[in-house]
Amino acid sequence: MYTVAQLIGGVWGAGGEAGELVVHDPVDGSRVTSAPVATADEVGKAVAAARGVAAEWAATAPAERAAALHRAADAVAEAADDLARATTAEMGKPLADARGGVEAGIATLRQYAELAPARGGRTLHGDPAAIDFMTPQPRGVVAVITPWNDPVAVSCGLLGAALVTGNVVLHKPSERAPATGWLLARAFDAALPAGVLSLLTGGPETGAALAAAEVDVVAHVGSTPTGRAIAAAAAGSGAKVLLENGGSDPLVVDAGVDPVWAAGQAAQGAFANAGQICVAVERIYVHRDVAEDFVDALVERARALRSGPGRDPDTELGPLVDRRHRDQVHGQVTAAVAEGARVRTGGTLPDGPGSFYPATVVDDCRHDMALVREETFGPVAPVVVVDSFSEALRCAADSPYGLAATVLTGSMSHAQRAWRELPVGTVKVNSVFGGAPAGAAHPRRGSGQGFGYGPELLDEFTATKAVHIEAPGGRHW
Ligand code: NAD
Repeated sequence: MYTVAQLIGGVWGAGGEAGELVVHDPVDGSRVTSAPVATADEVGKAVAAARGVAAEWAATAPAERAAALHRAADAVAEAADDLARATTAEMGKPLADARGGVEAGIATLRQYAELAPARGGRTLHGDPAAIDFMTPQPRGVVAVITPWNDPVAVSCGLLGAALVTGNVVLHKPSERAPATGWLLARAFDAALPAGVLSLLTGGPETGAALAAAEVDVVAHVGSTPTGRAIAAAAAGSGAKVLLENGGSDPLVVDAGVDPVWAAGQAAQGAFANAGQICVAVERIYVHRDVAEDFVDALVERARALRSGPGRDPDTELGPLVDRRHRDQVHGQVTAAVAEGARVRTGGTLPDGPGSFYPATVVDDCRHDMALVREETFGPVAPVVVVDSFSEALRCAADSPYGLAATVLTGSMSHAQRAWRELPVGTVKVNSVFGGAPAGAAHPRRGSGQGFGYGPELLDEFTATKAVHIEAPGGRHW
């Protein structure tokens, strides 16, 4: 059982007057974590305290800030096992995945520690008697509001980039993973000057208070409705908003591809982390020529997955984060069935404790069904059969989201059409996951705004100033 404390103004254990929140293990419903809930007043005090140390941290030499981030990465590495176990206990993902998320987080911290001091502004070619340059400066106070589905990797990216560029940060981790956020804050705090990082815990109300506070940037990774509420709240203070939000990523399976290989790709994309990945495969458009063999192979893959508690080393499919989320996932599946879709495997609520949901394949889906159009965020693969690659691309592009898309094709011209025509941040051809290190993209539409990762995230947390210096009276220096 984790007992979480807040960190406000450099003081552990401060606040929590709005009560307590409890996280239950999605495997068996037992209590895992208790955490304080911050009041709006405490949020305001934490922002004021952070503002008080902002100037000093901003004036710290970039190399010194980078060294602090390396120390934070060392501390996170030391706590890696604890962090992975807390992630699995709170949100259910297989332990090896949780450990992978921690490793990814550490790698991002080290990357930002190396890159930040090397990034600068540029000099300008004005009057030779004058000095003209552009320089990035810290934005000031940054609110970081994070989700539960990959809590360490996501938080490390935002915290690392904001801190190393000279901002002070208030982190509000998800109410479904507060112990993970607390362990992370303990590791960071040991490496940073007091007050540079604050930890506030609580649910949507705490997040809303933070988004509406007098901060300079609100960075949110989470669902699209929350991102929109945050953008509206931040409009009141004029804070810059950075949003990495939901997606409904399509997978296009072209005619002529090996249907068994394509089913393997689809299974990986739809069922990894029980579908609780922002870039999970959420809808599949398969060409009629290969549809039957593809769906048969996908059903076989889904049935072969080993389901169980995330802490068991054999588990491939852990539970969903909680029953509330499971009800949402199951509700979308049953609504699609009521509209004529057919469950080929899964699709039933299991008996027993916890929030397990089977890997589910639904065919006879139509593009206009909510299961296809909306984000499901569960281990569900809805299949729509199409008659041409053009129809598949048209459907894939017709979405309220624009995060990523994958196309499986043997045709170079189809691959070229896919990356040119799809209105999404990331296009992958012939691999559902993967991509070169340091890639970064702009999400489109409801999926957000701004760079949420990659070296470009460092620029999101700085503001560029143009400087012109002349000697007095038109003389030379
Ligand atoms: P969520 O938006 O419900 O919660 C995320 C955070 O926002 C939590 O800390 C929560 O307390 C806070 N919050 C909730 N309501 C708020 C409000 N009104 N004002 C301010 N803060 C508020 O999302 P979630 O359920 O934790 O995460 C799942 C979602 O995150 C999915 O939609 C997934 O696609 C998305 N996600 C996106 C990315 C990406 O990079 N695009 C990465 C991971 C997850």
